[in-house]
Amino acid sequence: MGEFELIRRHFQRAGQVARPSVALGIGDDCALLKPQPGCQLAVSTDMLVEGRHFFEGVDPEALGHKALAVNLSDLAAMGARPLGFTLALALPQADEAWLAAFARGLFALADAHACPLVGGDTTRGPLNICITVMGEVRPGLAMQRSQAQVGDDLYLTGRTGEARLALELMQGTDWATQACGAQALTQHPELRRRLERPTPRLELATLLAVLGNAVHAAIDVSDGLAGDLGHILAASGVGAEVALGQLPTAPALALLPEARRIDCLLNGGDDYELLFTVAPIARAAVEAAAQASHTPLQRIGRISAAPGLRVLDASGHAVAVSARGFDHFA
Ligand code: ADP
Ligand code: MG
Repeated sequence: MGEFELIRRHFQRAGQVARPSVALGIGDDCALLKPQPGCQLAVSTDMLVEGRHFFEGVDPEALGHKALAVNLSDLAAMGARPLGFTLALALPQADEAWLAAFARGLFALADAHACPLVGGDTTRGPLNICITVMGEVRPGLAMQRSQAQVGDDLYLTGRTGEARLALELMQGTDWATQACGAQALTQHPELRRRLERPTPRLELATLLAVLGNAVHAAIDVSDGLAGDLGHILAASGVGAEVALGQLPTAPALALLPEARRIDCLLNGGDDYELLFTVAPIARAAVEAAAQASHTPLQRIGRISAAPGLRVLDASGHAVAVSARGFDHFA
């Protein structure tokens, strides 16, 4: 199977679903997209490298899902609506079964969010998946990291920490297996699901964006809640208080000793949840949007004038946290 046959068989046919956002898809030198008149184009790229972002031999269907999910999560964090995506793929060999499963996972999520594959590049090399998503958003409605305001409520979708715990258990890390048991990944299938099949929160995000002025800053939590919240605080020149007791905690995380649990909740990574700030006046509207989009949502704290992040326990005492997000070069 040559390069063009590979593209045609696995990516072109499935990618040619007619969409109003695409004037011309795969097969020419460029794709032609049709954002709605007056909209801004939102663009984001994320790369997944074998051995760095995923294990060798990981289920290719889950990998197809995750490669797109982490990109759609970035669109969600801006409140942008998907228009389409490109896929740059380096493959060690053209393995039919692997490609079919990868494409299945990829297109299931793409179709669920009406985000067609419009182009890409395919080459031989160590397994590497790079996706660029494009979306559209009305001017002034994008949720930027720099827009948090003192007094805002702080909201988190879903819950954090499970992907990190799954990773530790898969690697056989002592503290994780001692606390959760050798069968933890079987007993808690949601852990692996959270690591391998994150849910981009696009439905809620697009509802939030149209709430307009009251919804201020947002970020998707990919490198740990504390670190990613830190990006909002730094960009906005504000601080935050987070109530530890308000952080939704998965059953498996409850098995961990307290310090490990707090570390997973705050510095987990790979969560792909949405963290955003909203003027309290819009509380009812935000909670209605969460209901309408069937998105689990929790108010976890508020934005304050004093800089820095304070995590408070049930009695209001500050808990010591290292708010260091994941850094590939640290
Ligand atoms: P060019 O040489 O003009 O860059 P290519 O030969 O690389 O074009 O690709 C031919 C067509 O197939 C282009 O439309 C390109 O966008 C598309 N394509 C290549 N690889 C992929 C892929 N992995 N997924 C989707 N489309 C792809
Ligand atoms: Mg090319």
